[in-house]
Amino acid sequence: MVTNQDDRVEALLVQLTLEEKIGMIHGAGLFRTEGVPRLGIPPFVFSDGPMGVRGEFANDVWVSTGHGGDQVSYLPCNSAIASTWDRDTARRSGEVLGAEARGRGKDMILAPGINIKRSPLCGRNFEYLTEDPFLAGELGAAIVQGIQENDVSACPKHFAANSQETERFTVDSIVDERTLQEIYLPAFHSVVKAGAMAVMGAYNRLNGSHCCTSQALLGDILRRDWNFDGLIVSDWGGVHSTEEAALSPLDVEMDIRGDFDSYYMAKPLLEKVRSGEIPESVIDEKVRYILRLMVRLQMLEPERSNRKAGSYNLPEHRTVALETARKSVILLKNENELLPLCPPKLHKVAVIGANAERRHANGGGSAEIKALYEVSPLLGVQMILGGNVQVTYAPGYLLPTVEDRGDENWQADGTASAAGKAVRMPAPEEVAAARAEALKVAREADAVIFVGGLDHDYDVEGQDRAGMELPYGQNDLLDELLELRPDTIVTLVAGSPVTMPWLDKAKAVVFSYYNGMEGGTALAEVLFGKVNPSGKLAESFPADLMQCPAHGMNCFGQLDRVEYREGVFVGYRYYDTRDIPVNFCFGHGLSYTQFSYSNLEVIPDEDGWFVKLRLQNIGKYDGREIVQLYLAPQSPFLLRPYHELKGFVSVELAPGEAKVISLPLPKSAFACYDSTNHAWVSECGRYEVQVGASSRDLRLTQFVELL
Ligand code: BGC
Repeated sequence: MVTNQDDRVEALLVQLTLEEKIGMIHGAGLFRTEGVPRLGIPPFVFSDGPMGVRGEFANDVWVSTGHGGDQVSYLPCNSAIASTWDRDTARRSGEVLGAEARGRGKDMILAPGINIKRSPLCGRNFEYLTEDPFLAGELGAAIVQGIQENDVSACPKHFAANSQETERFTVDSIVDERTLQEIYLPAFHSVVKAGAMAVMGAYNRLNGSHCCTSQALLGDILRRDWNFDGLIVSDWGGVHSTEEAALSPLDVEMDIRGDFDSYYMAKPLLEKVRSGEIPESVIDEKVRYILRLMVRLQMLEPERSNRKAGSYNLPEHRTVALETARKSVILLKNENELLPLCPPKLHKVAVIGANAERRHANGGGSAEIKALYEVSPLLGVQMILGGNVQVTYAPGYLLPTVEDRGDENWQADGTASAAGKAVRMPAPEEVAAARAEALKVAREADAVIFVGGLDHDYDVEGQDRAGMELPYGQNDLLDELLELRPDTIVTLVAGSPVTMPWLDKAKAVVFSYYNGMEGGTALAEVLFGKVNPSGKLAESFPADLMQCPAHGMNCFGQLDRVEYREGVFVGYRYYDTRDIPVNFCFGHGLSYTQFSYSNLEVIPDEDGWFVKLRLQNIGKYDGREIVQLYLAPQSPFLLRPYHELKGFVSVELAPGEAKVISLPLPKSAFACYDSTNHAWVSECGRYEVQVGASSRDLRLTQFVELL
């Protein structure tokens, strides 16, 4: 069927010269393509990234030019959004990101990051949502739809199997067909079904082919099997050959280099088309996708004047950042109801740990942004306590002094990571003095809050962490602190799990991902009971690295080839199948109130079943529970994980209040991928339907028979 849109695209296409078309399919600036002014075709303008709209750069060098006009709302990172397990919240965060991208004049925001977390060490884990493909797909789709309400395109990334930063430009991810289909592709399929207008290819190779130009991945799966009709953009520098790129389904080549004419799909391609080596028709096909997207985004005349203008730094955007942050803080442990702290009973509160006063927005790699502001945890605590409580702060542990790069961004040096380069480590006597000071402050206080964790020297693009341990001597400090003050509240701000050798000694542990401009506010509200925590882990927290199958099987971080040997047994799919004693399981997160689950019914309907239950708040506080639905095949023919997440819902209840909850359980939820027949199959037999508060806190179960 020829649509009006197709007619318009064809009408423009025939007027374009070969040179103009070539200009449209590669970067002509670090974040834009070339426009064709004589035909009213504007350049296409991109920006990073998942946590907010990145600062402005000069056209051809990685030097900042925004002059402060590029300060924006700083949203909780994707891992934080995932910890809310709330589609509406994810969507609203997307709406803000899209509005701000448009407000800053962008056509596409390079977000969200939906790669599956395979190891706790991946440097970009904070940019990704979760270890679970279903959760990633649901929340990724919500973010994408939110973004795209603003006449701006989302660009879910990085397609696909991009789960490590080590040798990220060249490493070959070796993933079997079933694992790809069940673990690494579903989230991308979900965002495509949700209408994502673009997808970014990954830097890595997948089973031998570069992802950005892979026929198998982009042609067979994305375009053919999923009917994707949006734009395929390379990661910046993910293209390696003119011929390969031209003949592949890739539409736009982007790079980090400023010599735009030398891009593979620039002059080298022009020459090959002129000489007849490559047919012009392949270029036309790419330009069609670009023009179609421009029509959809109202970038061309006559709709241009109707295009949404967007807006940034609105008070409403900060409200969304705060509400998201509140829902994402995770209460991991709370013995003897140590939390919440009660301000009227306090005179002096000690806040210890350098992360209490650190701000993280402007770090991490391409996700860095210039936040309009960022409330640190220390500021959050002081804001909530007011003038009647004295807050004393001691860093307790010291950071190395880091070299200043001046005006130049780390990305200028394409092979480097975004981590700063440590130039001076603190001397042993400085470390001892800082620790002594912290212990003194702790001794004198009524309540002690430790705020440690990681920062973007560890959670960073271009580099995986070397280990799971807390850096900067924090474990030693915590040992002493917990010895002195067993009531210390341990709060970690980080982008990925860490080992917790002091866990048995700590009574209360709170975890916050990089939580946006209001992260410190939300954290303090949770600590002092103004907000009842309701975040749940969207990734397992293993007790040590070797529990993680990718590490136990020694198949993470290799330089040339990384074999995904654990197959579909990623995260809780492995830990729960093998009953591994992790520190905190997938889906875990406590509340100050309690919920009771009852009256489970699994009722057949035309699409399969739906699951009904009664949830009641039986505690003292308003609270939010994430009801999780898992499916456990009882005697599968194919080797399958013990159980898998198939549904979830976020429910808010006042004390005493009860609600009847319904979750769909379609037949498709029973399927797994059979590589022998290259097809999804639903095996007949008995399945246990499990409903609970985490993957290991299953409250209600019932068997169903799939005939
Ligand atoms: C990253 C992408 C990012 C791009 C543009 C690349 O290095 O992998 O996620 O969108 O740079 O900054």
